[in-house]
Amino acid sequence: MGKTTAVIQLPHGTLPLPAFLPDATKGLVRSLDSRDLENCGVKAVVMNTYHLMQNPGSSTIRALGGLHHMSGWQRPIITDSGGFQIYSLIRQNPSYGSISSKGATFFTGEGKSSPKKYHLSPEKSIQLQLNYGSDIIICLDDCTHVDARFSTQEESVRRTIGWAKRSKKEYIRLLDQKGFSSQNRPLIFAVIQGGGSFELRKICAQELSDIEFDGYGYGGWPLDNQGHLLVDLLEYVRSLIPSTYPLHALGVASPEAVTACFRMGYILFDGAMPTRDARHGRLYVFKSNPASIPNIDNDWFSYLYIFDDKHIKSSSPISLFCDCLVCQNYSLGYLHHLFKISDSLAHRLATINNLRFMNQLMENL
Ligand SMILES: [Zn+2]
Repeated sequence: MGKTTAVIQLPHGTLPLPAFLPDATKGLVRSLDSRDLENCGVKAVVMNTYHLMQNPGSSTIRALGGLHHMSGWQRPIITDSGGFQIYSLIRQNPSYGSISSKGATFFTGEGKSSPKKYHLSPEKSIQLQLNYGSDIIICLDDCTHVDARFSTQEESVRRTIGWAKRSKKEYIRLLDQKGFSSQNRPLIFAVIQGGGSFELRKICAQELSDIEFDGYGYGGWPLDNQGHLLVDLLEYVRSLIPSTYPLHALGVASPEAVTACFRMGYILFDGAMPTRDARHGRLYVFKSNPASIPNIDNDWFSYLYIFDDKHIKSSSPISLFCDCLVCQNYSLGYLHHLFKISDSLAHRLATINNLRFMNQLMENL
Protein backbone atom coordinates (compact mmCIF):
# COMPACT_ATOMS: atom_id res chain seq x y z
CA MET A 1 0.00 0.00 0.00
CA GLY A 2 1.39 3.39 -0.91
CA LYS A 3 2.04 6.13 1.57
CA THR A 4 -0.58 8.80 1.23
CA THR A 5 -1.22 12.10 2.90
CA ALA A 6 -3.83 11.76 5.65
CA VAL A 7 -5.82 14.81 4.58
CA ILE A 8 -6.18 17.23 1.68
CA GLN A 9 -6.59 20.93 2.47
CA LEU A 10 -9.26 22.50 0.29
CA PRO A 11 -10.99 25.89 0.08
CA HIS A 12 -14.08 24.50 1.88
CA GLY A 13 -12.19 22.62 4.56
CA THR A 14 -10.10 19.59 5.23
CA LEU A 15 -10.88 16.34 3.47
CA PRO A 16 -9.80 13.34 5.59
CA LEU A 17 -8.54 10.36 3.60
CA PRO A 18 -9.48 7.84 2.47
CA ALA A 19 -12.81 9.27 1.34
CA PHE A 20 -15.80 7.90 -0.49
CA LEU A 21 -17.69 10.66 -2.29
CA PRO A 22 -21.28 10.05 -3.32
CA ASP A 23 -22.29 11.33 -6.73
CA ALA A 24 -24.37 14.48 -6.49
CA THR A 25 -24.43 14.64 -10.27
CA LYS A 26 -27.02 17.36 -10.76
CA GLY A 27 -26.29 19.23 -7.53
CA LEU A 28 -27.86 16.76 -5.12
CA VAL A 29 -27.57 13.21 -3.87
CA ARG A 30 -30.97 11.92 -4.89
CA SER A 31 -33.56 11.85 -2.08
CA LEU A 32 -31.22 13.42 0.53
CA ASP A 33 -30.60 16.97 1.62
CA SER A 34 -27.25 18.35 2.72
CA ARG A 35 -27.96 17.86 6.45
CA ASP A 36 -28.67 14.17 5.79
CA LEU A 37 -25.31 13.90 4.03
CA GLU A 38 -23.47 15.51 6.94
CA ASN A 39 -25.20 13.17 9.36
CA CYS A 40 -24.03 10.20 7.29
CA GLY A 41 -20.46 11.44 7.73
CA VAL A 42 -20.08 12.36 4.07
CA LYS A 43 -16.96 14.54 3.78
CA ALA A 44 -17.28 15.67 0.16
CA VAL A 45 -19.42 15.04 -2.93
CA VAL A 46 -18.83 14.85 -6.67
CA MET A 47 -20.94 17.05 -8.95
CA ASN A 48 -20.91 16.93 -12.71
CA THR A 49 -19.94 19.83 -14.94
CA TYR A 50 -21.67 18.50 -18.04
CA HIS A 51 -25.04 17.90 -16.37
CA LEU A 52 -24.94 21.16 -14.41
CA MET A 53 -24.20 23.27 -17.50
CA GLN A 54 -27.54 22.03 -18.87
CA ASN A 55 -29.51 22.07 -15.66
CA PRO A 56 -29.88 24.51 -13.98
CA GLY A 57 -27.23 26.12 -16.26
CA SER A 58 -24.12 28.14 -15.49
CA SER A 59 -25.75 31.56 -15.21
CA THR A 60 -28.37 30.21 -12.79
CA ILE A 61 -25.68 28.55 -10.66
CA ARG A 62 -23.84 31.87 -10.53
CA ALA A 63 -27.04 33.72 -9.64
CA LEU A 64 -27.63 31.22 -6.82
CA GLY A 65 -24.18 31.89 -5.41
CA GLY A 66 -22.23 28.89 -6.74
CA LEU A 67 -22.66 25.19 -6.06
CA HIS A 68 -22.09 25.35 -2.31
CA HIS A 69 -24.57 28.10 -1.69
CA MET A 70 -27.09 26.65 -4.10
CA SER A 71 -27.08 23.20 -2.53
CA GLY A 72 -26.60 24.20 1.11
CA TRP A 73 -23.51 21.99 1.24
CA GLN A 74 -20.55 23.63 2.98
CA ARG A 75 -17.99 20.84 2.71
CA PRO A 76 -15.74 20.23 -0.32
CA ILE A 77 -17.10 19.56 -3.80
CA ILE A 78 -15.18 17.83 -6.57
CA THR A 79 -16.50 18.55 -10.03
CA ASP A 80 -16.18 15.97 -12.75
CA SER A 81 -15.07 17.54 -16.05
CA GLY A 82 -17.59 15.98 -18.42
CA GLY A 83 -14.98 13.55 -19.79
CA PHE A 84 -16.99 10.51 -18.78
CA GLN A 85 -20.03 11.86 -20.67
CA ILE A 86 -17.88 12.07 -23.81
CA TYR A 87 -17.56 8.33 -23.45
CA SER A 88 -20.99 7.38 -22.15
CA LEU A 89 -22.90 9.60 -24.58
CA ILE A 90 -20.85 10.34 -27.69
CA ARG A 91 -18.56 7.33 -27.96
CA GLN A 92 -21.47 4.98 -27.32
CA ASN A 93 -23.70 6.75 -29.84
CA PRO A 94 -22.14 9.20 -32.31
CA SER A 95 -25.54 10.76 -33.06
CA TYR A 96 -25.31 12.33 -29.59
CA GLY A 97 -22.37 14.49 -30.58
CA SER A 98 -18.85 14.69 -31.91
CA ILE A 99 -15.30 14.80 -30.55
CA SER A 100 -12.32 16.58 -32.05
CA SER A 101 -9.04 17.92 -30.76
CA LYS A 102 -10.90 21.15 -29.93
CA GLY A 103 -13.31 19.47 -27.54
CA ALA A 104 -16.68 17.78 -27.57
CA THR A 105 -20.03 18.89 -28.89
CA PHE A 106 -23.12 17.28 -27.38
CA PHE A 107 -26.53 17.25 -29.05
CA THR A 108 -29.42 16.89 -26.65
CA GLY A 109 -33.15 16.65 -27.19
CA GLU A 110 -32.65 14.47 -30.27
CA GLY A 111 -35.76 14.17 -32.38
CA LYS A 112 -37.36 17.22 -30.82
CA SER A 113 -38.07 20.33 -32.87
CA SER A 114 -35.29 22.35 -31.21
CA PRO A 115 -32.32 20.16 -30.28
CA LYS A 116 -29.75 21.91 -28.11
CA LYS A 117 -26.02 21.90 -28.61
CA TYR A 118 -23.47 22.06 -25.79
CA HIS A 119 -19.82 22.55 -26.48
CA LEU A 120 -17.24 21.52 -23.93
CA SER A 121 -13.60 22.39 -24.54
CA PRO A 122 -10.78 21.88 -22.03
CA GLU A 123 -10.76 25.64 -21.37
CA LYS A 124 -14.51 25.88 -21.00
CA SER A 125 -14.59 22.97 -18.55
CA ILE A 126 -12.02 24.74 -16.34
CA GLN A 127 -13.90 28.06 -16.57
CA LEU A 128 -17.17 26.42 -15.54
CA GLN A 129 -15.65 24.48 -12.65
CA LEU A 130 -13.90 27.57 -11.28
CA ASN A 131 -17.09 29.61 -11.58
CA TYR A 132 -19.05 26.91 -9.77
CA GLY A 133 -16.72 27.28 -6.77
CA SER A 134 -15.45 23.70 -6.92
CA ASP A 135 -12.72 22.54 -4.50
CA ILE A 136 -11.09 20.04 -6.85
CA ILE A 137 -11.26 20.67 -10.57
CA ILE A 138 -10.74 17.80 -13.00
CA CYS A 139 -9.28 18.31 -16.49
CA LEU A 140 -11.42 17.32 -19.42
CA ASP A 141 -10.25 13.91 -20.67
CA ASP A 142 -11.20 11.61 -23.53
CA CYS A 143 -12.48 8.46 -21.88
CA THR A 144 -12.64 5.15 -23.80
CA HIS A 145 -13.85 1.60 -23.26
CA VAL A 146 -11.08 -0.57 -21.83
CA ASP A 147 -11.41 -3.00 -24.78
CA ALA A 148 -11.44 -0.38 -27.55
CA ARG A 149 -8.91 -0.72 -30.38
CA PHE A 150 -5.29 0.29 -29.74
CA SER A 151 -5.55 3.12 -32.28
CA THR A 152 -8.59 4.50 -30.44
CA GLN A 153 -6.73 4.33 -27.11
CA GLU A 154 -3.71 6.01 -28.66
CA GLU A 155 -5.82 8.85 -29.97
CA SER A 156 -7.57 9.21 -26.60
CA VAL A 157 -4.25 9.38 -24.74
CA ARG A 158 -2.85 11.96 -27.15
CA ARG A 159 -5.98 14.04 -26.79
CA THR A 160 -6.12 13.65 -23.00
CA ILE A 161 -2.52 14.88 -22.69
CA GLY A 162 -3.11 17.80 -25.07
CA TRP A 163 -6.28 18.78 -23.24
CA ALA A 164 -4.50 18.51 -19.87
CA LYS A 165 -1.85 20.99 -21.05
CA ARG A 166 -4.50 23.42 -22.21
CA SER A 167 -6.48 22.92 -18.99
CA LYS A 168 -3.47 23.69 -16.81
CA LYS A 169 -2.72 26.81 -18.81
CA GLU A 170 -6.30 28.06 -18.52
CA TYR A 171 -6.35 27.21 -14.82
CA ILE A 172 -3.18 29.26 -14.15
CA ARG A 173 -4.54 32.16 -16.20
CA LEU A 174 -7.83 32.20 -14.30
CA LEU A 175 -6.25 31.84 -10.85
CA ASP A 176 -4.21 34.90 -11.66
CA GLN A 177 -7.14 36.83 -13.11
CA LYS A 178 -9.44 36.04 -10.17
CA GLY A 179 -6.77 36.71 -7.54
CA PHE A 180 -6.56 33.23 -5.99
CA SER A 181 -3.57 32.57 -3.73
CA SER A 182 -1.77 29.30 -3.12
CA GLN A 183 -3.79 29.09 0.13
CA ASN A 184 -7.30 29.42 -1.25
CA ARG A 185 -7.01 28.00 -4.76
CA PRO A 186 -8.99 24.93 -5.76
CA LEU A 187 -6.79 21.95 -6.64
CA ILE A 188 -6.56 20.53 -10.13
CA PHE A 189 -6.44 16.82 -11.00
CA ALA A 190 -5.76 15.10 -14.34
CA VAL A 191 -7.08 11.73 -15.47
CA ILE A 192 -4.90 8.88 -16.71
CA GLN A 193 -6.35 7.15 -19.77
CA GLY A 194 -4.97 4.39 -22.00
CA GLY A 195 -7.68 1.74 -21.78
CA GLY A 196 -6.32 -1.77 -21.31
CA SER A 197 -2.83 -0.90 -22.63
CA PHE A 198 -0.10 -0.81 -19.98
CA GLU A 199 2.18 0.96 -22.42
CA LEU A 200 -0.30 3.76 -23.08
CA ARG A 201 -1.17 4.10 -19.40
CA LYS A 202 2.53 4.64 -18.74
CA ILE A 203 2.91 7.27 -21.43
CA CYS A 204 -0.20 9.07 -20.21
CA ALA A 205 0.91 9.02 -16.55
CA GLN A 206 4.40 10.29 -17.38
CA GLU A 207 3.24 13.10 -19.63
CA LEU A 208 0.60 14.23 -17.14
CA SER A 209 3.15 14.12 -14.29
CA ASP A 210 5.43 16.36 -16.36
CA ILE A 211 2.66 18.95 -16.63
CA GLU A 212 2.29 18.67 -12.82
CA PHE A 213 -1.08 18.37 -11.18
CA ASP A 214 -2.16 18.21 -7.53
CA GLY A 215 -3.53 14.72 -7.94
CA TYR A 216 -4.50 12.15 -10.54
CA GLY A 217 -7.40 9.93 -11.40
CA TYR A 218 -7.65 6.44 -12.86
CA GLY A 219 -9.81 7.01 -15.95
CA GLY A 220 -12.01 4.61 -17.83
CA TRP A 221 -14.38 1.95 -16.59
CA PRO A 222 -12.58 0.01 -13.81
CA LEU A 223 -14.33 -3.32 -14.46
CA ASP A 224 -13.99 -5.94 -17.19
CA ASN A 225 -16.91 -7.39 -19.14
CA GLN A 226 -17.61 -9.92 -16.38
CA GLY A 227 -17.79 -7.13 -13.81
CA HIS A 228 -14.42 -7.98 -12.23
CA LEU A 229 -12.11 -5.23 -11.06
CA LEU A 230 -9.15 -4.68 -13.43
CA VAL A 231 -6.69 -5.36 -10.61
CA ASP A 232 -3.45 -5.58 -12.63
CA LEU A 233 -4.17 -2.38 -14.52
CA LEU A 234 -5.25 -0.47 -11.40
CA GLU A 235 -2.15 -1.60 -9.51
CA TYR A 236 0.07 -0.66 -12.43
CA VAL A 237 -1.39 2.84 -12.71
CA ARG A 238 -0.93 3.36 -8.95
CA SER A 239 2.74 2.41 -9.35
CA LEU A 240 3.21 5.05 -12.06
CA ILE A 241 2.37 7.97 -9.78
CA PRO A 242 4.51 8.84 -6.72
CA SER A 243 2.63 7.84 -3.58
CA THR A 244 2.74 11.42 -2.26
CA TYR A 245 0.09 12.36 -4.83
CA PRO A 246 -3.53 11.47 -4.14
CA LEU A 247 -4.97 9.03 -6.64
CA HIS A 248 -8.69 8.96 -7.30
CA ALA A 249 -10.30 5.71 -8.48
CA LEU A 250 -13.03 7.37 -10.53
CA GLY A 251 -16.29 5.46 -10.52
CA VAL A 252 -15.07 2.81 -8.05
CA ALA A 253 -17.91 2.54 -5.56
CA SER A 254 -18.79 -0.99 -4.47
CA PRO A 255 -17.66 -1.94 -0.94
CA GLU A 256 -15.39 -4.74 -2.29
CA ALA A 257 -13.85 -2.62 -5.05
CA VAL A 258 -13.25 0.37 -2.78
CA THR A 259 -11.53 -1.87 -0.23
CA ALA A 260 -9.41 -3.56 -2.90
CA CYS A 261 -8.35 -0.24 -4.46
CA PHE A 262 -7.56 1.24 -1.07
CA ARG A 263 -5.15 -1.62 -0.48
CA MET A 264 -3.42 -0.73 -3.75
CA GLY A 265 -2.96 2.86 -2.57
CA TYR A 266 -5.99 4.68 -4.00
CA ILE A 267 -7.53 7.10 -1.51
CA LEU A 268 -10.43 8.83 -3.26
CA PHE A 269 -13.48 6.99 -4.55
CA ASP A 270 -16.79 8.05 -5.97
CA GLY A 271 -19.75 6.55 -7.72
CA ALA A 272 -23.48 6.24 -7.84
CA MET A 273 -23.66 2.58 -6.86
CA PRO A 274 -24.38 2.82 -3.09
CA THR A 275 -27.15 5.38 -3.60
CA ARG A 276 -28.62 3.68 -6.68
CA ASP A 277 -28.56 0.33 -4.89
CA ALA A 278 -30.38 1.95 -1.98
CA ARG A 279 -33.18 3.21 -4.19
CA HIS A 280 -33.55 -0.28 -5.65
CA GLY A 281 -33.79 -1.81 -2.19
CA ARG A 282 -30.30 -3.31 -2.03
CA LEU A 283 -28.93 -2.43 1.40
CA TYR A 284 -25.38 -2.72 2.71
CA VAL A 285 -25.00 -4.59 5.98
CA PHE A 286 -21.98 -4.98 8.25
CA LYS A 287 -21.87 -8.54 9.56
CA SER A 288 -19.74 -7.58 12.54
CA ASN A 289 -18.58 -4.42 14.27
CA PRO A 290 -16.77 -2.39 11.57
CA ALA A 291 -14.39 -0.93 14.16
CA SER A 292 -13.07 -4.41 14.94
CA ILE A 293 -12.43 -5.56 11.39
CA PRO A 294 -9.09 -4.03 10.44
CA ASN A 295 -8.40 -7.05 8.22
CA ILE A 296 -11.39 -6.76 6.02
CA ASP A 297 -11.83 -10.03 4.16
CA ASN A 298 -14.50 -11.97 2.37
CA ASP A 299 -17.19 -12.23 4.98
CA TRP A 300 -17.40 -8.81 6.57
CA PHE A 301 -20.52 -7.50 4.89
CA SER A 302 -23.56 -8.63 2.95
CA TYR A 303 -26.33 -7.27 0.78
CA LEU A 304 -29.87 -7.26 2.05
CA TYR A 305 -32.78 -7.18 -0.41
CA ILE A 306 -35.53 -5.28 1.34
CA PHE A 307 -38.29 -6.53 -0.98
CA ASP A 308 -37.80 -10.11 0.27
CA ASP A 309 -40.95 -11.32 1.99
CA LYS A 310 -38.95 -12.60 4.94
CA HIS A 311 -38.61 -8.99 6.13
CA ILE A 312 -42.37 -8.30 6.33
CA LYS A 313 -42.66 -8.90 10.06
CA SER A 314 -39.05 -8.38 11.07
CA SER A 315 -38.55 -5.97 13.95
CA SER A 316 -34.74 -6.10 13.57
CA PRO A 317 -32.74 -3.18 12.19
CA ILE A 318 -30.84 -3.45 8.88
CA SER A 319 -27.63 -4.02 10.82
CA LEU A 320 -26.90 -4.34 14.54
CA PHE A 321 -23.49 -2.79 13.85
CA CYS A 322 -24.57 0.32 11.96
CA ASP A 323 -24.95 3.63 13.82
CA CYS A 324 -27.10 5.33 11.15
CA LEU A 325 -30.41 7.05 11.79
CA VAL A 326 -32.29 4.16 10.18
CA CYS A 327 -30.64 1.30 12.04
CA GLN A 328 -31.08 3.17 15.31
CA ASN A 329 -34.79 3.91 14.83
CA TYR A 330 -36.54 1.71 12.28
CA SER A 331 -37.19 -1.96 11.65
CA LEU A 332 -36.75 -3.95 8.48
CA GLY A 333 -40.50 -4.59 8.50
CA TYR A 334 -41.28 -0.88 8.42
CA LEU A 335 -38.71 -0.26 5.67
CA HIS A 336 -40.15 -3.15 3.63
CA HIS A 337 -43.57 -1.52 4.00
CA LEU A 338 -42.25 1.87 2.82
CA PHE A 339 -40.72 0.25 -0.26
CA LYS A 340 -43.91 -1.70 -0.98
CA ILE A 341 -46.02 1.48 -0.99
CA SER A 342 -43.28 3.31 -2.97
CA ASP A 343 -43.05 6.19 -0.55
CA SER A 344 -40.13 8.56 -1.09
CA LEU A 345 -39.19 8.05 2.56
CA ALA A 346 -38.05 4.54 1.59
CA HIS A 347 -35.43 6.01 -0.75
CA ARG A 348 -34.26 8.50 1.82
CA LEU A 349 -33.84 5.97 4.61
CA ALA A 350 -32.18 3.33 2.42
CA THR A 351 -29.77 5.91 1.00
CA ILE A 352 -28.85 7.09 4.49
CA ASN A 353 -27.99 3.53 5.51
CA ASN A 354 -25.81 2.83 2.46
CA LEU A 355 -23.93 6.12 2.67
CA ARG A 356 -23.34 5.72 6.40
CA PHE A 357 -22.06 2.21 5.62
CA MET A 358 -19.55 3.59 3.09
CA ASN A 359 -18.40 6.24 5.53
CA GLN A 360 -18.02 3.80 8.42
CA LEU A 361 -15.96 1.67 6.04
CA MET A 362 -13.73 4.67 5.22
CA GLU A 363 -13.33 5.56 8.89
CA ASN A 364 -12.16 2.04 9.64
CA LEU A 365 -9.83 1.50 6.71
ZN1 LIG B 1 -27.65 1.71 9.04
